[in-house]
Amino acid sequence: MTFLQQLLTEVLPKTWAEDMQAESLTWMVRCPCKFERSIWEIGGIRWKAKGSPRRRLVCPKCGQRTWHTVYRKPG
Ligand SMILES: [Zn+2]
Repeated sequence: MTFLQQLLTEVLPKTWAEDMQAESLTWMVRCPCKFERSIWEIGGIRWKAKGSPRRRLVCPKCGQRTWHTVYRKPG
């Protein structure tokens, strides 16, 4: 966990913290090469959010800095 994730997990009521982590795990970032990871996995938090923004990130698979699509995994 990153510092921010740890901090929020500690200060928020347990149910909120679990909800935050669970929701962050359903938000994915996908590289144009099709490699994807969850927001939580890259040290981020996405909670109570909507929409599909784009993030410029380095992809561990293709090694390129590319525009990743952020989307919520269905289910
Ligand atoms: Zn890639």
